Amino acid sequence: MNEIISVVVPFYNEEENITKLAAAITEVMEAENYKYEVIMVNDGSTDSTWKKMIELNRSNPHFIGINFAGNYGQSSAIAAGIDHASGEYIITLDGDLQNDPKDIPMMLNKLIDEDWDVVAGERENRQDKAFSRKLPSKFANFLIRKSTGVKMKDYGCTLRVFRKDIAKNLGLYGELHRFIPVLAILQGATMVQVPVKHHPRIYGKSKYGINRTFKVMSDLLLMVFFQKYMQKPMHIFGTLGIFTFSIGALINIYLVILKILGQDIWGKPLLMLGVLLTLGGIQLITIGIMAEMQMRTYYESQRKTPYRIKKILKGE
Ligand code: UDP
Ligand code: MG
Repeated sequence: MNEIISVVVPFYNEEENITKLAAAITEVMEAENYKYEVIMVNDGSTDSTWKKMIELNRSNPHFIGINFAGNYGQSSAIAAGIDHASGEYIITLDGDLQNDPKDIPMMLNKLIDEDWDVVAGERENRQDKAFSRKLPSKFANFLIRKSTGVKMKDYGCTLRVFRKDIAKNLGLYGELHRFIPVLAILQGATMVQVPVKHHPRIYGKSKYGINRTFKVMSDLLLMVFFQKYMQKPMHIFGTLGIFTFSIGALINIYLVILKILGQDIWGKPLLMLGVLLTLGGIQLITIGIMAEMQMRTYYESQRKTPYRIKKILKGE
């Protein structure tokens, strides 16, 4: 193959894993005779991960190191790696040896031969704790599948192969790396899943636990909003607002009639409801208008990176 392959890996305190992973990636890349680069992003590690990156870059110029000014999170680390990738094909995987670089050639071949935009891994035998990790993840997978309509078994596997233009336009903010398949589909990408190997984490600790449940659910809401209303926020806020306002207005008119007929309306719960609904309706409509303006700014202004890089290590 003539095109360059970029492998992007985020690292946060992975000092025991990084050198072993680098060796495993090199082995595959050399065996397949790929033209390659490995973009390692140090996401503010407090251990010797960055030192190991410097050593790797010195011994093999295919290894490019990006050092973040702080811990910006896995999504930003992946985004930075993708932004700096020069390859035609971009591969992402975890830095903790849970994914196996040996799966890369199979995935890449599938992408090229069958002309997919994204080939995503699906962990066949997920090697994580059953109760705190696998169970919530199963539930999350179910929710994501149902609400976004992007039919995948495993959204959490980070081993993925992308075509360059899809990867570069994902719009990865916050902790949206979990929704990369949805983000890719939002761009009209074609995607397929293949079973991949998954190993238990031997060194270091997982950076996540059960506490991310509510964050994932909020992100899911955001994704559903993006999917349906990203470019027309007024349709949801306006519709809701007009509906709420109308009901409130009807209630208020009814109360005014009662008042004219001489009844005492003060102290009726209905009065409270009527006032709340009209005000709420007006607010929803205004939020819709604001969101429309924001959305236009978002699309029309220059895209800025959500991270700050201190230094980039590049090979000759
Ligand atoms: N990671 C990162 N920044 C963070 C948290 C994690 O770059 O703030 C990296 C981490 O080093 C690993 C990958 O993201 O390479 C996946 O993290 P982890 O293995 O903790 O997630 P899990 O596999 O448990 O879901
Ligand atoms: Mg892991």
